[in-house]
Amino acid sequence: MTGRARMKRLAGMGVSEGVAIGRAVVAAKRDVEVFRIPIPEEGIDREIVRFRSACEETKRGIQRTRSNVGKLFGQELAAIFDAHQLLLADRTYIDDIERRIQRDRINVEWAVHESTVALAKRFAKIDDEYLRERGQDLEDVSRQLLRTLQGIAHHEISEVHGEVILVADDLVPSEAIRLGRANVVGFVVESGGRTSHTSIIARSLGIPTVSGVVGVTGMVTDEDPIVVDGGRGVVVLHPTEQVLEEYRSERSAADRRARRPSVERSDRPALTRDGVELELMANIDLPEELSQYERSGARGIGLYRSEFLYMETDPHLPTEEDHHRIYRRLIDAAHPFPANIRTYDLGGRKLAREMMETSEENPVLGLRGIRLTLARPQIFRVQLRALLRAGAGRQPWIMAPLVSRVEEVRRLRATLDEVAAELDREGVERAATYRLGIMIEVPAAALIADMLAREVDFFAIGTNDLIQYALAVDRNNREVADLYQPLHPAILRMLRSVVEGGRAAGIPVSLCGEMAADEKYLALLLGLGLRRLSVHPRSVPVLRRLAAEVDVTKIEAIAGECCELPSAQEVEERLRHRRPRQPARESQ
Ligand code: PEP
Ligand code: MG
Repeated sequence: MTGRARMKRLAGMGVSEGVAIGRAVVAAKRDVEVFRIPIPEEGIDREIVRFRSACEETKRGIQRTRSNVGKLFGQELAAIFDAHQLLLADRTYIDDIERRIQRDRINVEWAVHESTVALAKRFAKIDDEYLRERGQDLEDVSRQLLRTLQGIAHHEISEVHGEVILVADDLVPSEAIRLGRANVVGFVVESGGRTSHTSIIARSLGIPTVSGVVGVTGMVTDEDPIVVDGGRGVVVLHPTEQVLEEYRSERSAADRRARRPSVERSDRPALTRDGVELELMANIDLPEELSQYERSGARGIGLYRSEFLYMETDPHLPTEEDHHRIYRRLIDAAHPFPANIRTYDLGGRKLAREMMETSEENPVLGLRGIRLTLARPQIFRVQLRALLRAGAGRQPWIMAPLVSRVEEVRRLRATLDEVAAELDREGVERAATYRLGIMIEVPAAALIADMLAREVDFFAIGTNDLIQYALAVDRNNREVADLYQPLHPAILRMLRSVVEGGRAAGIPVSLCGEMAADEKYLALLLGLGLRRLSVHPRSVPVLRRLAAEVDVTKIEAIAGECCELPSAQEVEERLRHRRPRQPARESQ
C-alpha cells in the first residue's frame, strides 16, 4: 500500500490548539489504566515471567479472600472464588495471553486486556445463562491480575522512546496532568467536550488535543505515526512525507511566535474603542502556568482551581503546608491585584476518593463543590486555615464553587470565622480580613443573584457549569456537544441578570468559564455588561487586542436584542451581521 493510500484523516473536536507529531500509544480506561507498550525481542521472556508470577500472586490473594469470606459468610459464598481460581488455571485464557505477548511483542497488561475483551465477547454469546454470567468472573479476575501487575515493576509510558501521542477512549484530568508532564506531546480522546476538565488541563499544559474521535482506539495500533492538529480538530494517521513536512513547518512557525517576547504591560487596563475599561485576569490550574501569567499582562488571578492540587498529591490529601505554599505563591504573583482562590471543587467527575464514602449514581448532581466541603469539615478546615495564613499581610480573595443557596454562604462564612478564631488562639499569623465570593454556575444561583449579592463580596460566573446545568447538557458528552450552546437565549438572560444583581449590590462580577476566552463572544459579553473576564494567560493579550475594536455603546443595544431572540442560531446570525445593521452603515 502506498503512503498516500494508508493515510487517513479523522475529524473530532479541536479542544487544545497546536500541532503534535509523534507515535501512538493506545490506552484503555478500565479500573486500572492500561497502556500498550511495545516490548523488544529480548524482553519477551521477562514479560512471560512477570505474567506467571502475577498469576501465582493473584491466586494466593484470591485464596486469602476465599478463606476470609468463608469464615465470615459461609462456604456457599466462598465458592464464588473457586470460579476465579479456575479461570486463572484455564489454559485457553492463559495460553492466549502468553501467545499475544510473544506474537505481538506487547506488555502483559495489554495482552491481559485484549485477551479478556476477546474471551468476554465469546462468553456473551453463550445461550446458557450460568455460563454467560462467568463473563463477569472473567472481568473480575482480569482486574485483579492487572492490580497485581501494578505492584510488579509495572510499565510506564515514559519507557516509550520519543514523542508519544496518547490515544485513549477516556482520560481523567489527573492522568492528563501526569502524562502531559511526561513524554506525551498530544492527546486523541474518544470522549469529552471543549469544557471538560481534561480539555482545560490539556490547554493549561499546551498539549494539542482532539477529542470526540469516535472509535479511534480501534483504528490505531501502537507506534503508528500520527499528527494531532488541535486547531482544526483533525487527526492524521500515517501521514505522507509531504503532509508531515507541512505540519512540521506550521509547528515551527507557532514555536517562533510563542518565543517572541511579549510587549503586554500589566500596569494599564485593557480599553475598548470607546474607552471603557476591561479587567483581564488569568485562570491558573497548575503552578507551571505562573510564568505565563507574569508575561500575559493579566491584572490578577480570576480563578485558581484548588482541586488540581489534590489531583497532584493523589492518593494523599494535600497537607496544610502544601496548600499554604501554593496559595502564598499565587497571592504574591497577583499582588497588587487579587488572586481568587477557589475552595475545592471535588466530586462530580473530579477525583474525591478520600472524601466520598459512597459511590453516587449521578455525581454531577451529587456531593460536589461547596456541598462536599461543608459535609467534610475536617478536610475543608485544613484548606481554610492555609488560605487565611497565606493571606497574612494581604487580603485573600476566597471563593466557593457550586453554590445554590444563601445558607451555604452563611455556613461558609461561619466556618471561616471559626477557623480564624482557632488560628488566633494558636497565635498563628493570618489575614486580618478576607473577601468572600462565590461562583455563579448553578441556574438557581443565577436566578437569586440579587439575594446572593447581598451576602458576598464578589461573583465569578462559571459558564462551563452554568450552561451544563441550565441546558441539561453534560459538558463531557460528545453526543450532545452540539446542544452545548453558550449563545442560548436562556444563558444570555442569566448572564444579564447576574451582572445586574452584582451591579445593584456594588460588587465585582467576573466571568471565568471558557466562554470568556472565545474571541467570538467578547463583544457580546461586553454588551451584556461584563467588565471583568478571566481566561487562560495565553488568551489575555488576544482579548486585549480585540477589546480595542469594540464599541461598547453600540454593542449594548445589540446584546439587548440578542436576549429577545428565540434561538442560539439567531443570536449567532445577529452577531455576525452586527456591523451592517448599525444605523450609520445601513444608510450608506
Ligand atoms: C465553570 O464552571 O465555568 C468553571 C470555571 O469551573 P470549572 O470549569 O472548574 O467547573
Ligand atoms: Mg464549574
